[in-house]
Formats: sequence, C-alpha cells, structure tokens
Amino acid sequence: MKTITHWIDGGLVPAETDATSPVYDPAVGEVIAQVQLGSVGDARVAVASAVRAFKSWSEFSVGKRSSILFRFRELLAAEQNELAAIVSREHGKVLSDALGEIARGLEVVEFAAGIPQLLKGEYSDQASTGIDVYSFRQPVGVVAGITPFNFPVMVPLWMSPVAIAAGNTFVLKPSERDPSASLFLADLWRRAGLPDGVFNVVQGDKTVVDALLTHDDVAAVSFVGSTPIARHIHATATAHGKRVQALGGAKNHAVVLADADIEDAASHLTAAAFGAAGERCMAVSVAIVVDSVADELVSVLARKAREVIVAPGNVPGADMGPVITPAAKDRIEALITSAEVAGATLVVDGRGFTVAGAEGGFFVGPTVIDRVTPEHEVYREEVFGPVIDIVRVSNLDEAIRVINENPYGNGTAIFTSSGEAARRFQRAVTVGMVGVNVPIPVPVAYHSFGGWKDSLFGESHMYGPDGVRFYTRAKVVTQRWPRPRSTDARPSFHFAGDSTH
Ligand code: NAD
Repeated sequence: MKTITHWIDGGLVPAETDATSPVYDPAVGEVIAQVQLGSVGDARVAVASAVRAFKSWSEFSVGKRSSILFRFRELLAAEQNELAAIVSREHGKVLSDALGEIARGLEVVEFAAGIPQLLKGEYSDQASTGIDVYSFRQPVGVVAGITPFNFPVMVPLWMSPVAIAAGNTFVLKPSERDPSASLFLADLWRRAGLPDGVFNVVQGDKTVVDALLTHDDVAAVSFVGSTPIARHIHATATAHGKRVQALGGAKNHAVVLADADIEDAASHLTAAAFGAAGERCMAVSVAIVVDSVADELVSVLARKAREVIVAPGNVPGADMGPVITPAAKDRIEALITSAEVAGATLVVDGRGFTVAGAEGGFFVGPTVIDRVTPEHEVYREEVFGPVIDIVRVSNLDEAIRVINENPYGNGTAIFTSSGEAARRFQRAVTVGMVGVNVPIPVPVAYHSFGGWKDSLFGESHMYGPDGVRFYTRAKVVTQRWPRPRSTDARPSFHFAGDSTH
C-alpha cells in the first residue's frame, strides 16, 4: 500500500516515526494509502529548512519571484486533470468540481504573480525640509499553513502563492484525510524553479500543528478548518507571538423573498447545498424563506434534490459524490435523525443511501428538511453534508434577525428582484461575504476571503490585498541627505514639527 510522506528541502522525506493514518477512497469505502503522521522533530526539520531557504529567497528580486509564479501557473494549468483525479479519488468530489477548485487556486497564483505591483511602496517627497519619507513592505519569514480536507488544492493555494511571492518560505500541514495533492503541488513548485526549502509539506495531525504553532522560528500562521480548532490555533499561536489568521466553520443562510424567481433560486440552492456533498465552507445549509412562497420553494427544491445524480466522483455526469469518511456519514445521518425527532419535516431523506456498484461508499443522499427552527440541533451544528434546512419567516427583517443571531458569519445570500431589499440586507447582515442572487459568493482573487464572528479569528482575511498585508510587514524610512560640510550643524531639540525645519 502507498505511504504518503513529507516534502522537505526539495524532496520526499520519510517521517521519523512509524505512526500513520488511513486515507480512503470514499466512493468505494476502501483504504488506499497510509499517510505518515509527523513528529515534533519532523516539524522542526521542515522549519529549519524554511529558515535556511528564507535567507536567499527573500533576497530574490520581485521580478524573479514573479517569473517562478508564472511558471508554476503554467504547470498547474497543464496538469490540472491529473491533479483533479487525485483530489476526486481521496476527497470524493466529482471531477468537474475538483477542476473548479483548481481554477479558483489558479486565480490566486495569477494574482500573486503580480507581486511587483502589489509590493510597491509609498513615497513622500520633502515631508520636511530636505527630508523624504517612504515605506515598503518586507516578508515576515517562515509561514505555516494548516489546511482542511475539503479543498486540498484551493486552500493551500489561498495561502502559499501570496506568501511565497512576497518573499516568505512556507510549511504546509495539509489535512491527513486527502494528503496526496500537497505533494503534487510541491513537485510543481520544484519544477517551476522554486528553490529547495521555500515550500515544504509536513504530514500529520495535532502533534505537528502544535509544534508549528509554538516554534520560535514560525512568524505567521494561516489556518482554515473548523471553528473549535480555529479558536485553538488563534489562541495558541498568538500566545507565542505570531500573527494569525484562522478561518473557522460556517452555517450559511440564503434568504428567498416572495419576489424571487423561485425556479431559479431553487436551482441555485440545489447546487449550493448539495455540490461537493455539502462539504464546502460556503455551502448553503439553511434556506430562510418567507411564508408566502415557502410551500412552492420546498416543492421545487424537493424535486431538484431528487434529480441530483449521486455517484463516485469519476463517473461522467455525476453531480455529487460521497462524504469523506464513515464517521462523517454517521454524524450527518444522526443529525438528520435529530431533526426528525425534534419535529421538523423530512421532505427528502438521504439516510441509508447506496449507489449501485459502490455499495461500500460513504454516500448520503440530498436531504431537505422543512420547518426547522434555530433551536434544532441540525440548525445549531455545522452539518457539513448534503443537507438543507428550511426555516420559514414572515419577512426580511425576521430573516436578518435569524442570520445575525447565528454565531457563524461566513457567507450568506439573498434571492430577490428588489434592489431595495438586497441593499438593506447586505448592509444589515453580520456576515463577511454576501451574495445577491449569487448563492456562493466566494470573492475573486483580487478581493479577499473571510467571514465574521465564529467564522474567522484574527483580523486579516485570506488572499487578495489582505493576504499581501498579512504576509508582509511595513517599514517606514525617514531620510535626509545634507549637503557636504553643512553649516547648519546645531542640534534640534524639537520633536518633529515641520515649520521649525
Ligand atoms: P478540521 O478543523 O478538523 O481540520 C483542519 C486542520 O486542522 C487539519 O489540517 C487537521 O489536521 C488540523 N487539526 C484537526 N484537529 C486538530 C487539533 N485538535 N489541533 C490542531 N490541529 C488540528 O477541519 P476539516 O474537517 O478538515 O475541514 C472542515 C471544516 O473546515 C469545516 O468546519 C469547514 O467549514 C471549515 N472550512 C472553513 C473554510 C473557511 O474559509 N472559513 C474553508 C474550508 C473549510
């Protein structure tokens, strides 16, 4: 059986201990590889390599760094089908969706290739007589990236291209559930000409993560994952003096008003709730519907949910694959049961779902649950499966109240034909990313991605302008070049004060 190792200093490196974790093909329910679980020592070796590489990489000209990003972009685009097949096999998502996540990652690489423009500083001529002031940004050092299972390519590419282009070196700790994509990316970086040690991968779990969070030579930590772990990452890494951005879980609501095109809204909700088997941090897991159109929306949504083609990710035409592990399937099914027990209405029930020819796969069918209330466990928990809750409300203000009382604040959307309602909604919701007739409002790479409340700890959003700021620190220079043998050599005891100079 295949063993998945680390990538340190430009090549594959085995872990120092024998501990491993199984990697499944979730479509058939079989273990297909073992990933090594790194030790504290392995994490230290990777950081030491990144520290060494930083010395020279941070001195590369921005033009040279940019050209490596361009080469990486070309290789990634050329090899996307092979990479998508790796993602689909270990994650379970359908091939077209795996290609979609690579496309979103490519966008960030393209953004980062513009680093000469992004790092341009500011200059104030004659800020005081004979004095100029200018600022520029420098890399922070070694960056650790800790990523979730659900986007094994896109999320590492939210972080590493921007960090590396800005002159930092990077240690990635990918999810142990689908780790192969990380090594594929590492090899692409090598082929693009990135010097050894600039991009490293340490496989593992909490042991490696905590070693990175507390390591003196790690300057910054980017994390994406569930809220309890995001909280731990933020608290631990900030206590150890690092800058931290820790993106957490989500419960994304889409509001459907009476003036929406119900057929169109239901189509979007179907794709947003069941795409990637609901294992997206921006998946719509709650539809908040005004009473007057609720019956109609539920009936159209139920029809579309039943039409979703559930199959292994590599089957042509499949809409949705399995969930990641048997434990995830059990957990999702238990949450559906909890809704039934609590009195919600199971309109489409995805429990006990099997796919002919793939009976061992971890499939959960699309599930629509009506008359859910904010007290229900299925509403309070992040289900992270192909389940949509319908919460009925009487008007937009009530919808906004429900959303704002939810502890998460990643994404939200509104379906309406009223500009006034959309504007009121976008201004009032306490959520970081808002879609107007767009169900999954993931910002393009030249904006930044981030939620509010329990969906993000730290103040910096990811990639885009926030990413550049996060991976660099500002330096401000005040300079004066007096004429040789200046006669005005008396000391000045004033603190600043331009008029005195
Ligand atoms: P997770 O929190 O279980 O794991 C994320 C990473 O943290 C993994 O690399 C894992 O190995 C590590 N980890 C797990 N337990 C740890 C611990 N106790 N201490 C230290 N490190 C630990 O998340 P997941 O199940 O891989 O991914 C799904 C979650 O990620 C969902 O909650 C989803 O909403 C969230 N997510 C959020 C975003 C976002 O942008 N906000 C994007 C993608 C996923």
